[in-house]
Amino acid sequence: MPDDMVEAHIRGVNNALAAGWRVLERGGPALDAVEEAVVIMEDDETFDAGRGSFLNRDGKVQLDALIMEGSTLRAGGVGCVERLRNPVRAARKILSESPHVYFVGEGAEKFAAEHGIPLCENKELIIPREVERLREYQARLREYQVKNPTLAAKNAARMGHPNALSSSQPTGSEMFAPVDVDDDPTISHDTVGAVALDRDGNIAAATSTGGTLNKAPGRLGDSSLIGCGCYADNQSAAVSTTGWGEPIMKLVLAKWTADRISAGNMPEWSALEAMNYLKQRVNGHGGIIVLDPTGHIGIAHNTPRMAWAYKTVKKQEAGVERAV
Ligand code: ASP
Repeated sequence: MPDDMVEAHIRGVNNALAAGWRVLERGGPALDAVEEAVVIMEDDETFDAGRGSFLNRDGKVQLDALIMEGSTLRAGGVGCVERLRNPVRAARKILSESPHVYFVGEGAEKFAAEHGIPLCENKELIIPREVERLREYQARLREYQVKNPTLAAKNAARMGHPNALSSSQPTGSEMFAPVDVDDDPTISHDTVGAVALDRDGNIAAATSTGGTLNKAPGRLGDSSLIGCGCYADNQSAAVSTTGWGEPIMKLVLAKWTADRISAGNMPEWSALEAMNYLKQRVNGHGGIIVLDPTGHIGIAHNTPRMAWAYKTVKKQEAGVERAV
């Protein structure tokens, strides 16, 4: 997160917090709270969710989202949708009104439309900042590949980059990371997520994303997969993650973290452990928010920054770095 984006991120997460809190304050369910919080961030162009998301290789916005209820384990997910401003709303409809858990692509859009969610044009989700970001990224990718074909492949693989080269993949330009991802200011992870605990003692989680910059069309990340980018179970915890989706998926990280909590660990510690595990096991980078049914929270990231905010009846805080 570049310096000049810090303020917008803090404002964004605080707005989301306020929306979620309004629901909880009037005694509403955690499920509604996480939905409303995520909608605010999907509508905020600061984040990689809804309008203003990173573009895929073809210059389109392709969105994924999941919402999950800890009391019933009901969940709703959408993947690779291109015509929904608020994918989390569609995910919620799936949770509440469908016997299924997950819809993708046109089927998901059709389900949403049939359940009263208006569809939009993909171009309505695209903003000039992202068109420029993609153009620059692809230009650098081409330049880098021409200059260092072997190094580019090795570097991508070392960083656990989703475009990393493996022996079975073609050697197209899209298979290379232009530079070390940690040093590249154009590569960030701006997925949004929320976790909440309501008066009845129920927890819920939601995650929504435009995925990674220059992703291949049809690529699905961790965010909308149950147990990877999002999870909620009253018997363990509500969890939402952000970061390179491929490493997170391989570890089923949200569920891994929830399991640590049901085994007796505190959310604060489990969030840190999850980030260490992500780095040690698959060289992954990201962040995580965790909440258990007794109201203990965990916030951790192994990237330099991650915007976060929380509120309890006693305390409210926000930031872009989490002191350990
Ligand atoms: N986890 C998301 C994905 O891989 C990206 C992100 O968190 O920014 O799709």
